[in-house]
Amino acid sequence: MITSKLLSAVAGLEHGFGERGNLPPQNVITLRQVHGTQILMVETGEESGETGFDSVMTRRKNTPIGIKTADCQSLLAVDPETQIIAAIHAGWKGTVQRATEVSLQKMIDVGAKAERVLVALGPSMLKSCYEVEGDVASQFQKEFPEWPEIIEQKSEKKWLLDVALTNKKQLLKMGIHPQNIDHLEYCTHCYPDRFDSFRRDGDKSGRMVSWMKIL
Ligand SMILES: [Zn+2]
Repeated sequence: MITSKLLSAVAGLEHGFGERGNLPPQNVITLRQVHGTQILMVETGEESGETGFDSVMTRRKNTPIGIKTADCQSLLAVDPETQIIAAIHAGWKGTVQRATEVSLQKMIDVGAKAERVLVALGPSMLKSCYEVEGDVASQFQKEFPEWPEIIEQKSEKKWLLDVALTNKKQLLKMGIHPQNIDHLEYCTHCYPDRFDSFRRDGDKSGRMVSWMKIL
């Protein structure tokens, strides 16, 4: 299990980014994700497996929440003072819909302060492997014209997409301090022994759970 030094320093917080063969807490609340931007706010602790959501958030103690990924970007966020926590799933579809910005705004709406929020980005398919064609490239160029560095043309019909960087830029835009962002920069596609990768393994790919919990 991979952990973030930044998040590990928060008293009363437990977390982990999924790695193949590594199981999350048994009672972790996950979602049936749909590559959108909706957020499930866990209020009772009974919620689990609900569909239509890509982020899960709570302020409850002893209530582990998690999201599942294979190549997509996972983000774990916490406001240590209010103890609001969020797990966010952002593949390219969620990223271009600004799922991370929407989730951070929801944290702020329920009492978090951007200047206190710590965020770790888990392993995902990094830019060097993230080849896309013109249809995806043009969506990113259209949505984020101010950030040309998130995409690089590789050949006539291929572009390299930096999903992690696009999410980091969304965090900075929301007012998260650069020193409060930790990127666990492993490429899921490059380490078959450690990570599931949908791009590499297709339909037989597993999914890794990244989770957090307030004790
Ligand atoms: Zn790679």
